[in-house]
Amino acid sequence: MTVRVRIAPSPTGDPHVGTAYIGLLNWCFAKRHGGKFILRIEDTDRTRCTEASAQAIYNSLKWLGLNYDEGPDVGGDRGPYVQSERVKLGIYKRYADQLVAQGDAYPCFCGAETLDGMRKAQMAAKQPIMYDRRCRGIDPAEAARRVAAGETHVVRMKTPTTGDFSYKDRLRAKPTVKAWADIDDQVLLKGDGWPTYHLAAVVDDHLMGITHVIRAEEWLNSLPKHIWLNQHLGFTPPEYVHVGLLRNADKSKISKRKNPTSVLWYRQQGYLPEALLNFLAQLGHSHPEGKEQFSIQDLGSCFDLDRINVAGPVFDLKKLDHIQGLWFRQLSPERMRDEVVRAIDERFAQLFPLVRERLTRGADFISLAEPFYAVTVNHRVDELVPKGSEPVQIRGVLEAFAKALKEVQAAEQWTAAGTEAAVRAVCAAEIAKAPEDAAIAALWSPKVAFSALRVAVTGRPNSPPLFDTIAALGAVRCLERLAAAALKLR
Ligand code: GLU
Repeated sequence: MTVRVRIAPSPTGDPHVGTAYIGLLNWCFAKRHGGKFILRIEDTDRTRCTEASAQAIYNSLKWLGLNYDEGPDVGGDRGPYVQSERVKLGIYKRYADQLVAQGDAYPCFCGAETLDGMRKAQMAAKQPIMYDRRCRGIDPAEAARRVAAGETHVVRMKTPTTGDFSYKDRLRAKPTVKAWADIDDQVLLKGDGWPTYHLAAVVDDHLMGITHVIRAEEWLNSLPKHIWLNQHLGFTPPEYVHVGLLRNADKSKISKRKNPTSVLWYRQQGYLPEALLNFLAQLGHSHPEGKEQFSIQDLGSCFDLDRINVAGPVFDLKKLDHIQGLWFRQLSPERMRDEVVRAIDERFAQLFPLVRERLTRGADFISLAEPFYAVTVNHRVDELVPKGSEPVQIRGVLEAFAKALKEVQAAEQWTAAGTEAAVRAVCAAEIAKAPEDAAIAALWSPKVAFSALRVAVTGRPNSPPLFDTIAALGAVRCLERLAAAALKLR
């Protein structure tokens, strides 16, 4: 048997480190067994998927060196490798029709209102929320007539109602057991004729000859449906293996709030693909010789599916930085120079438009841009406190701005417009508290409050436009500098 494995990301948003992680495990497994590693794009959720995101997935896998043998942009003889293209070929509908003809699936005509009522009644009765299977009872001939007449419907799987589902995943000590009665009559084909993930993934894994599905454990709950579909479509199921999800330090599923999750971010920050892969590899599969620094080619030669870590590997940026350091310091002078130049160029492209109007000579750029490059800035109290105000008042202003800006950061709205709106709202609210007070109005005026803010974030009384500057500096640096400036005003 030739091993054939795949990753099947959905192109929504930026390419995710979780995709890189699962990709890496599949890649190594394929290498170990002289098999094939395939990329399939699962874009059947038409509201959320974009072509740009698919493109970013191709680029990030290539950047990482997780080259795939078959995929949308490299071809292969089991294509197309993008599900929306397969929908157009009628592939999924054919299998849904087969299940309906066999009596294993049925058209369901319940509209959104009916389903909503069902959900509310179940919630009120404290019952599990699931389809009550009412369309199962419709006589198949009658259902076929309604479908032929063009009535809107979905196709649902006729899930067993008794007995248990059981599957032994090789990475888990005990089999996964679930009562069929608790499993919903899954929608297989939506009202617009497009498949859901479940039908499309099972059909494609079969047609693409996938032998092992190595994926994140969040899909374990869907496994009964997938095995059932394989059986009722007459397929030999691939082996399903569920690996631990990457976790934040508090053990929650890795999320943008707590860790950067976009592969593009790591690339922009100057992490080396070798280092990011080495870090991810270590999370999933320690090196049998206890090596800390190793390449995926090395891991691919000794990879053992049974040794994958399932216990929710913790994504620790400090560990990544350590591994990055090992790789970075071994770079040839030429490549290290390229990396430094790339970092400078990237920042330059962002900063040049901000300072362009203030330049008299090329070298002015260096001093004007210094606050953007520097880790910290030096605050002078006489500059922080505009004439006519007291240090303690300015401290209050900066603390109020910091509080509002933290919320902007948490809401991921750190742009010039987002930060400006928040800061202006603070000023307006403070002035509204004391409408008659001229001193308060002066303190919270742009002239005073914004000038303190400017000095706090840049260390200087002059800078490019304030909110563009704040946006370019980024939330972390601005908030650190605001806190440091407030401390000086004690
Ligand atoms: N499209 C699914 C995802 O985005 C793939 C899950 C699977 O590997 O079966 O993660």
